Amino acid sequence: MKVGTPKETEQGERRVAMVPDTVKMLVGAGLEVSVEAGAGAAAFIADDLYQKAGATVATRAGTVLHEADALLKVQAPRESEIAVMRKGAVLISFLQPATQGDTIRSLASHGITAFSLELLPRISRAQSMDALSSQASAAGYKAVLMAADRLGKLFPMMMTAAGTVAPTRVLVMGAGVAGLQAIATARRLGAVVSSYDVRPAVKEEVQSLGATFIELPLETQEGEGGYAREQSEEFLRKQRELIGEHVARSDVVITTAAVPGRHAPLLVTADMVKGMRPGSVIVDLAAETGGNVELTQAGKEIEVNGVAIIGTRNVPSTMPLTTSQLYARNVANLLLHLVKNGVLALDFADEITKAACVTHGGEIINERAKQAAPAA
Ligand code: NAD
Repeated sequence: MKVGTPKETEQGERRVAMVPDTVKMLVGAGLEVSVEAGAGAAAFIADDLYQKAGATVATRAGTVLHEADALLKVQAPRESEIAVMRKGAVLISFLQPATQGDTIRSLASHGITAFSLELLPRISRAQSMDALSSQASAAGYKAVLMAADRLGKLFPMMMTAAGTVAPTRVLVMGAGVAGLQAIATARRLGAVVSSYDVRPAVKEEVQSLGATFIELPLETQEGEGGYAREQSEEFLRKQRELIGEHVARSDVVITTAAVPGRHAPLLVTADMVKGMRPGSVIVDLAAETGGNVELTQAGKEIEVNGVAIIGTRNVPSTMPLTTSQLYARNVANLLLHLVKNGVLALDFADEITKAACVTHGGEIINERAKQAAPAA
């Protein structure tokens, strides 16, 4: 069985889905690995490191795409890439099945068996494959560094001969994987941190990291599988009213709130930004799915009344060495879950295989993806 990884073609994508460690892992499991020349360059991984680990380096993307029985990628393939892939080949990557209907339809019609990392069930057995978590952790960490770099203040309290410096106050909205890592990072830098999430279950985790959990007098409900559920517009309006004073008191606000497959909930309005002190910083990690902050512009940093609003896209890609290592491990673990004795052995009775597979045998087999990609 041949496994291939082409160079990512999406603009600004520096990560790569295969690293020398995972080449060794896959070769050790009896698979043949090929990588497109330069695939790891933006993540500081040279071709010869792949070769030393046991991979073949191919000069053309087309060769890798056409020959692979299984393709490992970060971003969804373009139409031109899908066109050269082999019928029946397996693809593992981020696919955003809830919104990328055209790509999903095309993968189905080309007979690709595609697995979407967004659909992986959040169960213990799948933790080693959980790319959403590995990438979100890195993003949460980096969000704090971006805020600290932009802020005109120090994070820690400091007693100096010239006087005492008060610590920075950080508010983290959404205490999932990215939010918890943001809390931990801000605490390590010495900030005073508070956090809010619609899921009351995270209170203890937030507190164990040394942050204050903000409880709002609102009835909250948890969704399925540990995720938040989409809240009503009325709920979100009340939530914004109540959280406003906490936002105004903060020097840094980091927003990470998301509901899978849905537009990001609006947590911070333009008026709330006006209530913040000039010099404050907001980092909106939900920028790509519509933003938690009304004024966020995805891919840009803007300033409104002296408040910086950072909407950087694809934050994990800014740390490509670490995020590629973690991501490549996640996808190699998922691939090996689908393989027995060196050959593909798909078992649709298995919870992981069933949940993560979007297209197979020419059909879209995931219900949510089917709704997002009705037949053309
Ligand atoms: P996510 O990226 O979908 O959402 C981030 C956070 O935003 C969540 O904590 C969510 O509750 C919160 N949120 C949504 N709407 C909100 C609103 N209106 N106001 C405030 N906060 C809002 O979620 P995630 O970080 O990928 O994961 C969520 C949870 O899933 C984790 O905290 C964990 O409990 C669970 N999880 C389990 C496993 C596992 O068991 N293998 C792995 C990863 C995550």
